[in-house]
Amino acid sequence: MYNTNYDYIVCRYGELSTKGKNRKNFIACLTRNVRAQLKDFPALTYQETYDRLYITLNGENGLEVSESLRKVFGLSSFSLAMKCERDLDVIAKLATDLIQEEEGKTFKIMARRHDKTFEHISDTINRHVATSILQNTEWKVDVRQPDVKVIVEIRSDSAYVMLKKIEGAKGYPVGIQGKAMLMLSGGIDSPVAGYLMMKRGVKLEAIHFASPPYTSAEAQKKVTDLAQQLTEYQNEIKVHIVPFTDVQLEIYKKVPESYAITIMRRFMLRIGNELANRRNCLAIANGESLGQVASQTLHSMKEITNIPSLPILRPLITYDKIEIIDLAKEIDTYETSILPFEDCCTIFTPKKPTTKPHGDKIERYESAFDIDALVKDAVDRIETLTLKRGEVENTEMFL
Ligand code: ATP
Ligand code: MG
Repeated sequence: MYNTNYDYIVCRYGELSTKGKNRKNFIACLTRNVRAQLKDFPALTYQETYDRLYITLNGENGLEVSESLRKVFGLSSFSLAMKCERDLDVIAKLATDLIQEEEGKTFKIMARRHDKTFEHISDTINRHVATSILQNTEWKVDVRQPDVKVIVEIRSDSAYVMLKKIEGAKGYPVGIQGKAMLMLSGGIDSPVAGYLMMKRGVKLEAIHFASPPYTSAEAQKKVTDLAQQLTEYQNEIKVHIVPFTDVQLEIYKKVPESYAITIMRRFMLRIGNELANRRNCLAIANGESLGQVASQTLHSMKEITNIPSLPILRPLITYDKIEIIDLAKEIDTYETSILPFEDCCTIFTPKKPTTKPHGDKIERYESAFDIDALVKDAVDRIETLTLKRGEVENTEMFL
């Protein structure tokens, strides 16, 4: 692993296919997110250029900073680095010193001039540095599968030498695509859906439907724990808890069992939309996966979404359960998701929900409700929590 003597981290931007103003926005948003992610390291200073973000450690621990950086979407990779003057001998000496701290036997030099006015071409730099390492150490060259790649970057003011690329989280910086309202249940799917949306640059707020006393405080804690987990990727997240008991009880009084889920989903969507609009969200996101349950057949989805709505984003729509579980384990939400507490959906689950609801029946059943009043009442009674990364006590306070 790295020694801790490095003074800089050089960050490489992710999918930067965009140009001009969009590129500027991308970089500004990414830098903002990196700063927020690294707020616990106050000595760090930042310098952004059109193709790199340079972080000066100023004594902060490079390994700890790297651990945090790995969660920032929009970075393709980054490297711990040392800086030196733009002199071939100085660069070669630095590279030679650094490689002796590493494990391995073979290396390759990868020099790149970001400043094309530098007097030596990349090939000359490669040869010069390689010669120094070969003469002063036991290391050998292997251009195909080297144990260590020595990266040399020549900038206009100085040179950077680094020995490893650490994988970044990829994707787009969170927030670059605006904000969406994530429907967060206590299940396995929706936190994973949230993660994937954030990875595409969408900032999230979360909405959760709770039906106390039928759903427990533990069930709610599970949801806030899951949301807390998402703050690893987005510094702060708002969780809106909707009191859903009244709506659910009315549904079970007025709607035949086989249609209860369909109508319930439509109410969730209406409430979600009302809140999303109030909170300036551009879309709703959920964890639906095609065919997973009765409400997630295409027939069902067509009828459930047959109401005015923001775009509904379903990042998991083609995923099978195994893929979703693997991702849930990767982002550390799985263990929380499988805790056994009842969700509002599981409590009122009918024995035989329809997989092919009919629009005319839905219309007939819904005519028995004062829909606008129910939606408004639920939205007005929402309780909102703001969860911040690293501040776990917030979620516990709520119980
Ligand atoms: P998950 O899908 O998260 O594993 P689940 O399987 O219990 O939970 P489904 O019945 O598959 O949930 O619901 C599909 C989607 O509807 C969920 O992924 C989630 O986005 C949304 N949803 C379900 N129940 C709730 C709830 N109580 N609050 C907020 N959103 C919910
Ligand atoms: Mg599900």
